[in-house]
Amino acid sequence: MKKWEANIRKVTPYVPGEQPKRADVIKLNTNENPYPPSPKVAEALRQISAEPMRKYPDPEARQLVEAIAREEGVRQEQIFVGVGSDDVLAMIFLTFFNSEKPILFPDITYSFYDVWADMLRIPYEQQPLNDAFEIESRDYDKENGGVIFPNPNAPTGALLGLSAIEDILAHNQDVIVVVDEAYIDFGGTTCTGLLDSYENLIVVKTFSKSRSMAGMRIGYAIAGEELIRYLNDVKYSFNSYTMNQAAILLGTAAAEDRAYFEETRQKIIATREQAKKELKRLGFSFADSQANFLFVTHERVPAEELFTVLKEQGIYVRYFKKPRIDNYLRITIGTDEEMGQLYAFLRDYLKKR
Ligand SMILES: *Cc1c(COP(=O)(O)O)cnc(C)c1O
Repeated sequence: MKKWEANIRKVTPYVPGEQPKRADVIKLNTNENPYPPSPKVAEALRQISAEPMRKYPDPEARQLVEAIAREEGVRQEQIFVGVGSDDVLAMIFLTFFNSEKPILFPDITYSFYDVWADMLRIPYEQQPLNDAFEIESRDYDKENGGVIFPNPNAPTGALLGLSAIEDILAHNQDVIVVVDEAYIDFGGTTCTGLLDSYENLIVVKTFSKSRSMAGMRIGYAIAGEELIRYLNDVKYSFNSYTMNQAAILLGTAAAEDRAYFEETRQKIIATREQAKKELKRLGFSFADSQANFLFVTHERVPAEELFTVLKEQGIYVRYFKKPRIDNYLRITIGTDEEMGQLYAFLRDYLKKR
C-alpha cells in the first residue's frame, strides 16, 4: 500500500438506477415523470440565447427563488435552491448534522442518506420500518443528532400523516428534522404548514418528479429564515454558482405553470390507482403508495426473476438486492399505455409460469 493511500477519503458511492441507451425501453425504474415538462419550459428554452452565458449566473438564483416562494406561499428568505434535491440534501447533511450523537432515518429508505452520512463521517442509526413498511413515529423519540425521512417514503411509497410528523417534531425540538418531500405532490399533504410552529423543520422538494425536470437538476429546501441563512453560508463556502443560467430560467417557467403541474400529477395519480387494481388482480401485494411508484411483491414468483424477464422484454423496473426488500420490485407509474404493456406482459408470463 502506498503511504498516501492512508489519507484518501474512501467512500462507497450511491448507485443510481440504470439509464439504458436503447430508446425503445419502457422505463419504469427511476421514478421519472412519463410526461414532458410544461410547454412553458419548451417556450422559455426557445428564447434562451448564448451570449449571456459568458457571464456568471446570479449566485442567488433570485428569479427562481421568487417563483418557488410564490408557489409555496412563503417568503423568499425561506427558500434555498440547489442542483437537484440531492445537492440540497448533501448541503443539509454538511450544515446541520454535526453532532456526536447519531442521526436517525428508516432502515428502508432513500439509499443516498447512508452514503452522505458515511462520506461526511456522520454517525447514524437506522430505525426499522414496521411489518407494513411504515415509519413508527415513536422510534424517533430518543437521543439523536438529527432526523431525516422521505414522505411518502421511498421505495415503499407509504405516507406518514401530518399528526405523526408533528409527533416526531414535538419529540425532537433540539435537533434539525428534515422531511424529504420528493413525492409529496402525488397524493400527500405537504408539511410546510408546520414551519411556523417548528423552527427546526426543513422541508425538501424537487422538480425531478412532479415537474418532469429530472434532467435540469433543480431542488429546494423550505425552512425558517435562520436555517436558510446557515445553508447559504455553507453553500457560499463551497460553490457560489450552483444554479446555471438555463436552470434558473427553465425552472422559473416550470414553477409558474400551475395548471400543467395539476394536470400531469392528477393523470399520474389516476394511473397509479388503476395500477393498484391491475396488479392486485395479478397476485401482487404492496403498501398503499401515495407516490409515483408501487413497491410490489408477488404471491408466487420471486421479484428477481420478474425483474430479469421484464428487462429482457425492454421493461425496466427497479430491484434492490437488500435485506427485507429482496423480494420486491419498485415500479414507477408510466403513461396508461406503458402500464398497459406491463400488465399484458405480466398476465401472459404469470399464466405460463
Ligand atoms: C428522487 C429523490 C430525490 C432526489 O431527487 P433530485 O433529482 O436530486 O432532485 C431525493 N429524495 C428522494 C427520496 C428521491 O426519491
